[in-house]
Amino acid sequence: MISIETPEQFERDQMRIALVAHDNKKPDLLEWARSNVDVLATHRLWATGTTGQMLSDSLGLSITRLRSGPLGGDQQIGAMIADGRVDMLVFFWDPLEPQPHDPDVRALLRIAIVWNIPIASNRATADFLMSSSLLTGAYRPAAPVYERG
Ligand code: PGA
Repeated sequence: MISIETPEQFERDQMRIALVAHDNKKPDLLEWARSNVDVLATHRLWATGTTGQMLSDSLGLSITRLRSGPLGGDQQIGAMIADGRVDMLVFFWDPLEPQPHDPDVRALLRIAIVWNIPIASNRATADFLMSSSLLTGAYRPAAPVYERG
């Protein structure tokens, strides 16, 4: 079993949320984030490069920006999840357009499942997550224990 250290300092009732949207889905994410901006602002936020720029420019949210998705941002978030540093993934991926970094997209979705991270891939699911009472209850997803470590 691996014990996961979390280097970031954060309040117990803050969720560590990673946000990603493919280009055609960025308007959806922005609209959703706008209607949840007060809640989002109380949590710790990370995002891939262009998504994070859009959210901080448009809504004034404080977001740690990673690399753009096609340049490794998805993989950076995946690594954070594997390290136990993300509690929720809001990933509005595009079901209608091929992505040059499709292997990274699949890897990110896969590792979020491996580590039992809640994933919202559309606005309806994101609305459910944002309205969950677990959001403010210091909830942490149970990290599965894998024999191979
Ligand atoms: P972006 O990356 O936020 O830099 O656009 C998202 C993605 O395409 O994975």
